[in-house]
This record gives sequence, C-alpha cells and structure tokens, in this order.
Amino acid sequence: MGLVVQKYGGSSVADAEGIKRVAKRIVEAKKNGNDVVVVVSAMGDTTDELIDLAEQVSPMPAGRELDMLLTSGERISMALLAMAIKNLGHKAQSFTGSQAGVITDSVHNKARIIDVTPGRIRTALDEGNIAIVAGFQGVSQDKKDITTLGRGGSDTTAVALAAALDAEVCEIYTDVDGVFTADPRVVKKARKIDWISFEDMLELASSGSKVLLHRCVEYARRYNIPIHVRSSFSGLQGTWVSSKPIQQGDKKVEQAIISGVAHDTSEAKITVVGVPDKPGEAASIFRAIADAEINIDMVVQNVSAASTGLTDISFTLPKTEGRKAIDALEKGRTAIGFDSLRYDDQIGKISLVGAGMKTNPGVTASFFEALSDAGVNIELISTSEIRISVVTRADDVPEAVRAVHSAFGLDSESDEAVVYGGTGR
Ligand code: ASP
Ligand code: MG
Repeated sequence: MGLVVQKYGGSSVADAEGIKRVAKRIVEAKKNGNDVVVVVSAMGDTTDELIDLAEQVSPMPAGRELDMLLTSGERISMALLAMAIKNLGHKAQSFTGSQAGVITDSVHNKARIIDVTPGRIRTALDEGNIAIVAGFQGVSQDKKDITTLGRGGSDTTAVALAAALDAEVCEIYTDVDGVFTADPRVVKKARKIDWISFEDMLELASSGSKVLLHRCVEYARRYNIPIHVRSSFSGLQGTWVSSKPIQQGDKKVEQAIISGVAHDTSEAKITVVGVPDKPGEAASIFRAIADAEINIDMVVQNVSAASTGLTDISFTLPKTEGRKAIDALEKGRTAIGFDSLRYDDQIGKISLVGAGMKTNPGVTASFFEALSDAGVNIELISTSEIRISVVTRADDVPEAVRAVHSAFGLDSESDEAVVYGGTGR
C-alpha cells in the first residue's frame, strides 16, 4: 500500500459539481489501496475575488490581514471536499496548512516553507481517513501568524507534504492533460510530453511556462519526488517530471533533444542610455536595482561608441517592478552618471529548452533561422547550457513560438491539444 499526494487546482473544484467529480476520483485512488492526502486550491477565481475585495477597503492591505483573508478560500474548498467524500461513504478530514504542520518564515504573501511536521495527517491516515489539506498556506515559526506562499502556491504545498510523508508520487491535477511542448493556447499542435527531467522543467518554468511553478519543481528536485501533472477532467496519463526517464508499458521514454518552447509576455525592458564605459558603472546600476529588491532577467551591454566613450545597458524585469526600478535608477542618476532611461513594456521572450542542445550542434542556428523565416526581429539574446532565449516585440510572440515549434519538429500530427478549464491552473 502506497501513499499518494494529489493536488487539485481551482479550476478542478470551481463549483459543487467539480467538487463531487474530484471527490469520486479521490475515492478511486483510496479504493485502489492507497493512503491518500489531497491538497486543494480555492474554488475557481476565489483568490482573485478576495484580493479585489481587500483592495476595495484598502489600497494597500496589510500583509498579515491579506493572508488571513486569502487562506479562507482554501478553507472553503477543503471542507466542501471532505463533505463530498463522506457523502460517498468514505472517511475524510480537512486540515488548514497550520494544522497540517506547514511551517514557514514570516514573509507575508510570499512565505517560504521551512519545515513540515505532518503528525496530524499521519494520525488521520492511520485512522483510515483521506486527509484534505488547504493549499498555499502555513503558519510562521516565530510569530505563529497565518502566512501564504504566493500565488499558485498550492503545488508547493503538495510537493512539500509528499516529501515529508515520503509519498511515492505527487499528482498535480489541472485543466490541461500535462506539460506541453508549448502553450496549447498558442500552439494548437503542441504535444503532451510523457516525461521531462527536473532540469528541463525548471528552465521551462523560469521561461514562462505556467503549468508548474519554479519553486514547486525546485522543491521536488531537492527531495527527489516524482511529479505527475495530469488533467482532473480526463483519465489520461499526463506528464511525469522526475530525475530518471520512466517506463510506459514496454516503451522506455527517451530524453528529447528539445523539450519545448516557452514564452513570457510579463516582462519589460529598461535601457540605460549614455553610460560612461568605465569600471564600476554596471555595478552601480545593478546595485541600485538590487537594493530596491528587484529581480532582473536578461542583461545586455552594447559596445561603446569610440567618439563618446558612452554605452547603453539594457535589462529585462517583471513589468510589475517597472515603476520601482525607474524610480530607483532616477534617484541614483547623478551618482551613476547616465543620460536617460527608456522603458518598454511591449516586449516578449521566447525560449527554447532542452538538455540535448548541449551535445547537438546547430540548435542555435536553427532557432535563429526559424525566427528569421517568420520575419521576427531579435532585440536581446541570452543562453544557458540547456536554453536559448530571445526578446522580441510582444506582437511577434505567437508567430515566433509557432515557427520555432514547427522548425524543431515538435508539432503533433494527431489530436489538437485540449484545454478543459479556463486558466491553465
Ligand atoms: N488559490 C491560490 C491562488 O490562486 C493558490 C493556488 O491556487 O495554488 O494563487
Ligand atoms: Mg488558484
């Protein structure tokens, strides 16, 4: 008898029907002889609605109170799910994150899990219960305040519980059939990936793929917990994310050369114009950005013009941090010494990911050829060992993603990718 952790996203439990459907599925897993721990997100768009409500009473709601409010969303779905399971004749108990032993630091709205002590979950399982745990929340170690892990944090809760309970697998149920070679909303011919390594999945997640959050995959890799991403709307096998390729029937799934194409339109580009080309300039620019607690992504410095000795430095960052970054740089303008700032939020990033590019020459050339054939102009380039990313105009992104996807032979001949819910979470 094994232990499985199953996580259901908001779109899977959007209404009473959804909750009853999910309850049946959970009971099936229990009937198959497993101990089952379920992590559940808030119903549908509840979290967004609660945030809207908070902003109506206060433009900048206090972090502690916002966490208190948002965690109520998951309390609703966990209690309803436990009721639905009991109605099917099985034992179930629901637990808040705090009751489940999810201990975090005290950074409200984006807390990190520092320990998981699932004593009560163990006891509930030993007594024959299906344990339902509210996702995305915990309790801070020092102040004992309720915290949340940041948007989409329920996946991390699930993986953390799977690690603490030594589960065989963490199943993440969502509204798509698994991880695709590109966003199925953009590429109709995107293919479901049967298996992907933690490394490639981490690159896809940090390049804009929204199926799994980077933090959750990072956690799974650290504790070596296999993740199975699948749809709660179908019975199909989804995507396995793990350290070693899996066996499917008598077929061994091979490591693909290219895992997929990710895109991201949530970033903006800042260009610092007229920077003196001398030691220490980049350091002062990025110190100012770092002191404002802003994470940057790509950085490019141009060659300086011989006549002026001045250069330009461009970098990308989340659009949500744009204002803060401009303010921080403006404040240091004379000290740093630059002419002006340019802000551009009409950009998009396209990334090709795959461990195979380490050993296959020509991947970079084919990538640029595909973009050029599609008439897409490249503004910035960055690479890692297993990823190439470019920045283009935001308008060019869908076309560019499709072109690259085709060029690397990733298009499926068969069925079009199915999206069952609305949001992809
Ligand atoms: N309900 C939370 C959110 O929407 C957590 C989650 O769904 O994982 O961000
Ligand atoms: Mg959600």
